[in-house]
Amino acid sequence: MNHLPNTPPLEDGVWLPFTAMRGFLEAPMIFERAEGMHYITPDGRRVLDMMAGLWCVNAGHAHPRITAAIREAAGRLDFVSSFRMSHPGAFAFARRLLDAVPGMARAFFSNSGSEAVDTALKIARGYHRARGDAARTKFIGRAKSYHGVGFGGLSVGGIARHKRDFGPLLADVFHMPLPHDPAQRFLRDRPAAGDHWLAGLDDILAVQDPSTVAAIIVEPVTGSGGVYPPPIGYLEALRARCDKHGILLIFDEVITGFGRLGACTAAEALGVWPDIMTLAKGLTNGAVPMGATLVNSRVFDAYMQGPAGAPELMHGYTYSAHPLACAAGMAALDAYQLEGMFEASAAIAKPFAAALLGLQGAPHVIDVRHCGLLAAVELEPRPAAPGVRGAAVADACFADGVLVRAAGDTMVLSPPLVVTAAQVAQTVDAMARALRAIA
Ligand code: PMP
Repeated sequence: MNHLPNTPPLEDGVWLPFTAMRGFLEAPMIFERAEGMHYITPDGRRVLDMMAGLWCVNAGHAHPRITAAIREAAGRLDFVSSFRMSHPGAFAFARRLLDAVPGMARAFFSNSGSEAVDTALKIARGYHRARGDAARTKFIGRAKSYHGVGFGGLSVGGIARHKRDFGPLLADVFHMPLPHDPAQRFLRDRPAAGDHWLAGLDDILAVQDPSTVAAIIVEPVTGSGGVYPPPIGYLEALRARCDKHGILLIFDEVITGFGRLGACTAAEALGVWPDIMTLAKGLTNGAVPMGATLVNSRVFDAYMQGPAGAPELMHGYTYSAHPLACAAGMAALDAYQLEGMFEASAAIAKPFAAALLGLQGAPHVIDVRHCGLLAAVELEPRPAAPGVRGAAVADACFADGVLVRAAGDTMVLSPPLVVTAAQVAQTVDAMARALRAIA
């Protein structure tokens, strides 16, 4: 039985996602409140949140604009179906969102990143059917990518241990290699690239007739798989391959959206635009569940060519464009834009990377990767006990008042965009102490 104040017994009821329940009960991490950069535990300890919750609370916790907007919205309109009806907040938010993401023309709302991804895959197949090109059904994903847990996202995702227990998955899905050279470690900038990074894609296309491929999906920066920045020129080359073969390009920006790379999206920061983009997490600053699938006018217009009267897209969710989520999303954009948070993210990115690169030489650290306000500190796994070292560092940092996340033996960091240099320094000190303690 746990002895945390103000907390019911943890042995009961909840089955936590992606969690080793038996280990969790031995050392539970429970948060009762949150404000700004911090979580507060039931016994009143403040923990610096260097993960923005789970890559989502980009404006910091309990942002007053966002909490006020949710309260107001809840008292006005609790729910309206978005099947053949809607509400003003949905249109106002979509317009505002598309103004912030200028390459895209329409927003389809869902409730999570997983739903946004499965929606994107369905839209891609439907796009080709609408154009009379029904042979294009295949998808190409990439090694180490995370695209959520729906059967679509799981199939195009590239993390083997997530898929092992749940097959058979979608047929006709292929994976290109991650553009990463393990010999290049502790890089100060994005890896330099050449076209050779796409050799794996070209191999797939040489075997799979490109005219049968519906879409290629990538995270512009691989997130959950361990933060792998795209080599310079890689996404541009990927865009060119898609154009050459009539394949749609999907960017999964569930993590990279809303300021991680110092602009609203990675597409904007890196200057490469997809045909379809998925968003979630920072879309509402994590305060209300919401996902969005944005499409460019080429995709939307293809759907509008058929006979009028029938739904063009036979797909949707009860809670699509939920009024509370739209209100939270609008207020999140206010916070990001009116308070200069994308600029703040851009300004702190270099000192953030430099501080973490200072862990080179600390016990067990074999690489530091970073892109904008995303970083990974990779540890050498303990032989025969992968993941144990990462978990030990996360636990030691938590005990030291800093929340970082272990993805196996890779420590990942994704702080709110308002993080300060002093908080970055506190984090690096805590990680260095933790690494020494487990050495
Ligand atoms: N895509 C990416 C890139 C993600 O990082 C995530 C979540 N970590 C998802 C999709 C799935 O989002 P959700 O957990 O909201 O379903």
